Amino acid sequence: MIIVMRKDTTEEQVEQVAERLKNVGLGVHLSVGEFRTIIGAIGDEKLVREIGLEALPFVEKILPITQPFKLVSREFQEEDSVFNIGNCTIGGKQVVLMAGPCAVESEEQVLEAALGVKAAGARILRGGAFKPRTSPYSFQGLEEKGLQILARVREQTGMPIVTEVMDQHSVSLVAEYADIMQVGARNMQNFYLLRELGKLNKPVLLKRGLSATIEEWLMAAEYIMAGGNRQVILCERGIRTFETMTRNTLDLSAVPVVKHLSHLPVIVDPSHGTGNWRWVPSMCCAAVAAGADGLMVEVHPQPEQALCDGAQSLTVAKFTTLCTQVEKVANVFGKSIRG
Ligand code: PEP
Ligand code: MN
Repeated sequence: MIIVMRKDTTEEQVEQVAERLKNVGLGVHLSVGEFRTIIGAIGDEKLVREIGLEALPFVEKILPITQPFKLVSREFQEEDSVFNIGNCTIGGKQVVLMAGPCAVESEEQVLEAALGVKAAGARILRGGAFKPRTSPYSFQGLEEKGLQILARVREQTGMPIVTEVMDQHSVSLVAEYADIMQVGARNMQNFYLLRELGKLNKPVLLKRGLSATIEEWLMAAEYIMAGGNRQVILCERGIRTFETMTRNTLDLSAVPVVKHLSHLPVIVDPSHGTGNWRWVPSMCCAAVAAGADGLMVEVHPQPEQALCDGAQSLTVAKFTTLCTQVEKVANVFGKSIRG
């Protein structure tokens, strides 16, 4: 249920309502907006009705939450969530570019990619140390050695790093190194992993599952938020359809839909979405026009030699051109990749 407070309610009055809710065992989520405060009550709806909040003069109305996701929902929090990561902010006027190789292969490779994408306008460095490969015979990633390489490149470039965590047992290890914890598409409904990430105080980038509906995706985000971690960034990376000309079908309509349903930032990954570097620049521009708060793009110094996803990786030069195009689109919407 949502308790909408009247305009100009005091902190004490908000506290009074929150206390009453907590006393009957309900969870409380405060959303203090510019004009009014909304109190989200999590738990049995009947209890909210029973404690007589309607009688309080500073309570304007009590509404049921129509969606199955609560903390994620815009009904709970009207204003966009904005997270600070390093020296950038995601969810506001900045279009945050995350770029780098699919997989960490060597320090030289990651450093070259990082310096190139940083100069072009990227703010966050991506790179996988643990790789969820379809084939057990494919390169599986450098694991902790890969995380150490990312940390050294962060030191040299100042770029925060986003990297994938594949299971609940490696959350603490990856969290020692990562600035943003990435949950891959194949793990979107790994509930043990989501619960473990809910205990962290660190942003989580939650990719949409290969065949997940928007509702299932938002429910996965709810798992993380229900554990207490409010910093969830959603990432559309394409879904399975009958189409075979692209690796996946990039569902750009998910961006405005999710932004309507949720206050969380949404980014788009056209590299995995299309599987071909040729389609990445146009889909990046389209994603920004659709309202994306950021992009994740695979960039490799020599895509033809990449151990993973070379076909969808851009060269640094192509990424640089892409940044110029994306900046123009961002400007149309009053945004910028530079923040
Ligand atoms: C990745 O980002 O390298 C990755 C494996 O992505 P996804 O989980 O979207 O396939
Ligand atoms: Mn990849």
